[in-house]
Amino acid sequence: MRPAPSNPGFLAAGIALTVAMLLGQSWLPPRTMELTRPGVASNFFLVGAQQAVEGQDEPPVRWVDVDRRHWRCHYRGIDGRQGCGLTFMLGDAEKGHGLDLSHFDTLHMELRYKGSSPFVRVALRNFDARFSKPEDGNSARMQSVNLRQRDVAKPVDIEMAELTVPEWWMQQFDLAREYNRPSLENVTSFTVDLPADLSGHPQDLVLRSLTLKGEWISRDRVYLGILCLWLLGASVLAMWRWQELRQRDRRQQREIDALTARTRQLRVEQDQLRRLATIDELTGVLNRRGLETALDDLEAQAETLGLVLLDIDYFKHINDRWGHAAGDEVLRRVAAIVSANLRNADVVGRWGGEEFLIVCRCRHIDEPAALADKLRAALAAGTVDPKGRFGITASFGVTLVPPGAATHRAFRRADAALYRAKEAGRNRVELGNAQDAATTM
Ligand code: GH3
Ligand code: MG
Ligand code: MG
Repeated sequence: MRPAPSNPGFLAAGIALTVAMLLGQSWLPPRTMELTRPGVASNFFLVGAQQAVEGQDEPPVRWVDVDRRHWRCHYRGIDGRQGCGLTFMLGDAEKGHGLDLSHFDTLHMELRYKGSSPFVRVALRNFDARFSKPEDGNSARMQSVNLRQRDVAKPVDIEMAELTVPEWWMQQFDLAREYNRPSLENVTSFTVDLPADLSGHPQDLVLRSLTLKGEWISRDRVYLGILCLWLLGASVLAMWRWQELRQRDRRQQREIDALTARTRQLRVEQDQLRRLATIDELTGVLNRRGLETALDDLEAQAETLGLVLLDIDYFKHINDRWGHAAGDEVLRRVAAIVSANLRNADVVGRWGGEEFLIVCRCRHIDEPAALADKLRAALAAGTVDPKGRFGITASFGVTLVPPGAATHRAFRRADAALYRAKEAGRNRVELGNAQDAATTM
């Protein structure tokens, strides 16, 4: 996933877009609809008496130049309605289908008028299906504005909001108030005419232009668009950031998991190494370092310990006679036999060469002495050569370590006792000092 855009970047882009939208809205050329242009209105015609009337050669209302929308009206004293105007029909007015002009806000008019009417009226009809009838043109709501003659002497802009529903129309149709509100949603016609008594005076009109003007997009819509854009942008950015954080979180979790696994593995390896460092590879019992650590621990517990030092008799001879591998096998068998004869709390290790040291908790010298004798008998009776070609014996030096006493001194006593056992002919157990009663097996 690409990283989320930075806040300043996003902000700058948002501001630029907002400004562009605002400027665009006001710079955009206006939306126009020129009603006099051919094809825009579905039809257009003059309003008023277009037939010759009695006592008059020509009709009171007639075209001078239809292409230029130039017409004249001249009523020479006839009674009745004296219409004089030009109407543009929009959409399919006969079916009540007009045009939605609600996006236009201005009507631009260029009219050349010479005549007696003080006002020029601009009117539209908005067909409202709730009450308008297609067969009755007058039932489409009228919305109009009267402009003074001098106001139309030059091009004039009329706000669509200036067009109001005339009082007479409201009275004629007697509708509920809400139906009398101006609306531009379904305009079926536009008319420019003269709302006055025109008797006796010629009227000359040229409608040069009748143009609806509006904005392509209303200001409200632009503001709404900008607001939506900002909300959208903020949401996208928030989602983006959230995703990013979630991914970072997952990545970190994976890294933590990997580190935890690695740490666990290292701890296992460290334990293995530590164990290997204290174990004798050949026999699987403790090595000298392991023994020393175990002795330190036992010593700290301030209990009486029994030390049994074991040395295989004539071991060199086995190596010489049966080979070094056979010697190794003997060492392994001896360790196994000794281990098998110990209690769980007892400790055994290979002190070096063919010497083993057994440490046990005891209260009296008799206990390690008995243990040593048991081991001596077990070794003498055991099978140390898988092929059964020879047996072995071992000699033992036994001593006590009183609580708080130094083991190394006791060890020297055990060693001396072992020496004595060797001297006395081997396959024996000797106790370490004068107080220890000598036991000869
Ligand atoms: P004694 O009855 O006086 O103890 O005689 P011994 O031959 O057992 O004693 P000595 O000290 O003369 O010989 C010990 C031999 O143990 C010498 C050495 O080669 C052998 N040895 C020491 N470590 C190992 C080992 O790891 N494997 C084998 N196969 N032999 C070993
Ligand atoms: Mg030895
Ligand atoms: Mg020996």
